[in-house]
Amino acid sequence: MVEYKLTSKAYYEALKQDKLLGLKCRTCGAVTVPPAMACRQCSELDLDIVELKSSGTVRTFTTVFVASEGREGECPYTIVLVELEAGPWLMGKLDGIDPKAASMELIGKKVRMGHKVFSGDKYSAGEGVSPLFFLLD
Ligand SMILES: [Zn+2]
Repeated sequence: MVEYKLTSKAYYEALKQDKLLGLKCRTCGAVTVPPAMACRQCSELDLDIVELKSSGTVRTFTTVFVASEGREGECPYTIVLVELEAGPWLMGKLDGIDPKAASMELIGKKVRMGHKVFSGDKYSAGEGVSPLFFLLD
C-alpha cells in the first residue's frame, strides 16, 4: 500500500494557520496542490512536502447566486481560480468585493490566500476549512 505523503488533514490543519502546503516532485519538479498521491505532472510518487508562497494571479472567476442547502446565507459570492506563483491552480472564495459587481477586471489581479473556517452542514462531517483569497491591490 502506498502512503499519502501529505494527508488532507495535515493540508487543512496548515491552511488554518494560513500556510499552504504542496508536494514537490523529485523527478520533474512540478508542485501538486491540493495534496494527491502522485505528481499531477508525471504521476511519480517520489514527492517532498513544501510550503508554498500563497500569492498568485486570478485567471478566471464565477459568481454563485444559488447556494447548496444550508448555505443560502452565504450567497452571492465569487469563486476565483488562482494561478499560484508556485505553479498550481487553486480555487477558492474571493473576499472583499461585492460579488454582484464582479467583472472581467478581476482577471489578472494579484491575490494572496488566507482561509475560512466553516461549520459543518448536511454534506460534510463537522467543521471544515477552505482557501479564501484577498485582493492585493
Ligand atoms: Zn513529477
